[in-house]
Amino acid sequence: MANPADDPNSGYVLVYLGENGALLFHSGKCTKCGDCISACSAGALWLVEDGLCVSISDCVGCFDCVAACSAKALVKQGG
Ligand code: SF4
Ligand code: SF4
Repeated sequence: MANPADDPNSGYVLVYLGENGALLFHSGKCTKCGDCISACSAGALWLVEDGLCVSISDCVGCFDCVAACSAKALVKQGG
């Protein structure tokens, strides 16, 4: 199956790029459940009114948030 993040028209935006790969976010898919925030041990995620914020300086590229996001609003590309 193709990675949805490979499609430039998919609505995913790049929120983090590191050695281990890229983290992409789709605000339209996000249900604001907060599961990714609980999963992020680095404290790099929080919700704002119009979407999810990632602190680039705090993100360690573990991608635990991707595993926690059942809505596939957070996906990993590459790495
Ligand atoms: S786990 Fe996914 S759907 Fe839930 S708040 Fe995080 S990005 Fe949004
Ligand atoms: S990749 Fe890891 S450190 Fe970065 S936002 Fe997701 S859970 Fe937090």
